Amino acid sequence: MSTFALIDCNNFYVSCERVFDPALQGKPIVVLSNNDGCVVARSNEAKALGIPMGAPYYQHKPIIEKNNVQVFSSNYQFYGDISQRVMQSLSLLIPNSVMEIYSIDEAFLRLDSFEKYNLFTFAANIRSKILKWIGIPTSIGIAQTKTLAKIANQVAKKKITCGVFDMRDYYLQEQIMADLPVEELWGISHKWGEKLNTLGINTALELKTANAQFIRNHFSVVMERIVHELRGISCLNIDKKTPKKTILSSKSFGKPITDLEPIEQALATYTAQACGKLRRQGSKARAIQIFLQTNPFRQNDPQYRNEAKFIFNLPTSDTGMVIQAGKKLLKSIYRKGYHYHKCGIVLLDLISKDYQQGHLFVHYDASKHDNLMKTLDNLNNLMGTGTVFHAAQGINHDWEMRSHNRSPRYTTNWKDLPKAY
Ligand SMILES: [Mg+2]
Repeated sequence: MSTFALIDCNNFYVSCERVFDPALQGKPIVVLSNNDGCVVARSNEAKALGIPMGAPYYQHKPIIEKNNVQVFSSNYQFYGDISQRVMQSLSLLIPNSVMEIYSIDEAFLRLDSFEKYNLFTFAANIRSKILKWIGIPTSIGIAQTKTLAKIANQVAKKKITCGVFDMRDYYLQEQIMADLPVEELWGISHKWGEKLNTLGINTALELKTANAQFIRNHFSVVMERIVHELRGISCLNIDKKTPKKTILSSKSFGKPITDLEPIEQALATYTAQACGKLRRQGSKARAIQIFLQTNPFRQNDPQYRNEAKFIFNLPTSDTGMVIQAGKKLLKSIYRKGYHYHKCGIVLLDLISKDYQQGHLFVHYDASKHDNLMKTLDNLNNLMGTGTVFHAAQGINHDWEMRSHNRSPRYTTNWKDLPKAY
């Protein structure tokens, strides 16, 4: 019999903000998306005030101000670092388990070999260690399949369960599924939920007991798999991450830009981020594409969008080389007289760095570039992101997005290290 656990960090971005500022415990908090546009995370207290997920900030400013809700711009560097610490702790606490990092704040674990333990106590111990070591509260759901573990996790989020819920008992499963609307199940889209309702299937239990062949005929094999998963037959195994085939890095500017130079700096900065990701997954890129565009929502502005592609003689992961190539492409598509809103780079045709083939006619010592990049990555890992960077990335960063309420980068920047008095 298979056993899965789903570990999910509670209100993750909000919980991160509380790690170094305990005074925020119990207070309503929201975290905003890029450019301070929408609400992307809410504390339970903010949820209770009725501030919806994805709500545009300006629309809800009155409730936010009236209730003294703490507002944070998103601090992705910090959240990413805390996420890594949580995931590392998990693999340390459960060394022989297979783990899939499903998102920044969720991981599936395969616990078949731990079945003989009391899994409730086992999970409660993991939960309290993560809370103590990192300061992040989590919920853990346990069941025979991933789909059931997702349901168990939703139950674990409720107050009465103290953060852990072992749902392996079939009778218990059926009781919970009888009250669970089918559209709340993992993997069921809004459209599928509506179609199931018209077929008379309203709860998870009704889907579980439906005829699998009938479901397959009306939907697809994907939906049939959900039926089996609800019955406790595991169809979705732990997904070992395969390296990405393309890497995109792009962002809107904090304000419209007309000059070429700040756009070059922004593009160089996004390029450095993309190349960092590329090296972390052990790949090199054979080609790049860059793009530049005005804001399609400012309809009175003249509109322009263009892109350009470059193929390298030899695959590379050298930030400097990619910045140079990108800069040339940018010059070729940049036109004066527009208010630019966004630019970006896509690294294409990625291959493993180990499969690199030499070039007959180009003399190029890849190891020199690789060593330079290794030194750069090591320094930035050790001393904090941005310790060493390419001059092309610029220093002022006037083009950066609005993030007026960002908390310090406590764990990735020496300057932001919390002070103890
Ligand atoms: Mg979460």
